[in-house]
Amino acid sequence: MSDKAISLPDEILPGAVHMFDTHAHYDDEKLAPVIHTLLPEIFASGVDYILNAGTNPDTSRHSLELAERYPGIYAACGMHPGDSGRYGSPDDYLPLLEEQLKHPKCVALGEIGLDYHYDFTDRETQRIWLYAQLELAEKTGKPVIMHNRDAHGDCMEAARRYPNVTGVFHSFSGSRETAAELVEMGWYISFSGVVTFKNAGRVREVARSIPDDRILIETDCPYMTPVPFRGRTNHSGYMQYTAAELASLRGMELDEFCALTCENGKRLYRIN
Ligand SMILES: [Zn+2]
Repeated sequence: MSDKAISLPDEILPGAVHMFDTHAHYDDEKLAPVIHTLLPEIFASGVDYILNAGTNPDTSRHSLELAERYPGIYAACGMHPGDSGRYGSPDDYLPLLEEQLKHPKCVALGEIGLDYHYDFTDRETQRIWLYAQLELAEKTGKPVIMHNRDAHGDCMEAARRYPNVTGVFHSFSGSRETAAELVEMGWYISFSGVVTFKNAGRVREVARSIPDDRILIETDCPYMTPVPFRGRTNHSGYMQYTAAELASLRGMELDEFCALTCENGKRLYRIN
């Protein structure tokens, strides 16, 4: 893909201001070569904050480095279920992870969770890592970022087993009932560009049902690019289209919805 494809859209939607992209992967190889030209443009275009989520010890360290370089970037550190099979046992990473969590700009433990869609790691190993990291979240008091792909039952069981741990279920794909139970338990629910996809009627229905104080927006870039830019490498400059879809679904003005989700993100990640 050429650099031209990884640029800001020509138009910024009116009202797309003060946004918080609560889940991104700027250390990904698709984005890494262009980030130092792209990120300043993104921060000048209506995005105030970005949470860069680690997926293993190395990407967690990259997230911290990005957070040190850019005032608007915050980091999450943790082991993604898809990566967990390549890094030994939790005991090998947890002492380092606990150190990473102490960084002043590390505001969450993640992303953690279960992915039974790709099954890059066997499910038992995924669950061992998930529970070890929930244990650490309970010990440190950090909010967690939960990745759930085709593992609704087991992710919910994990959430129920740790009532003192909350955070966000990111790029939410579950049912309305599941979302309601999570909200009741204190969790936030985040929506990505998927909400703009033609076949995402159920996700839109769920998005409409989330209380105002628990909804978040994200890119999950470089993946999940919203319509009308689907197919391109995703970044926070496209998130305004996700926000516009969600605002209209919820009968809100775009600027009002951006302010709401920005406040929610700052509350969850305890950013002043
Ligand atoms: Zn992610």
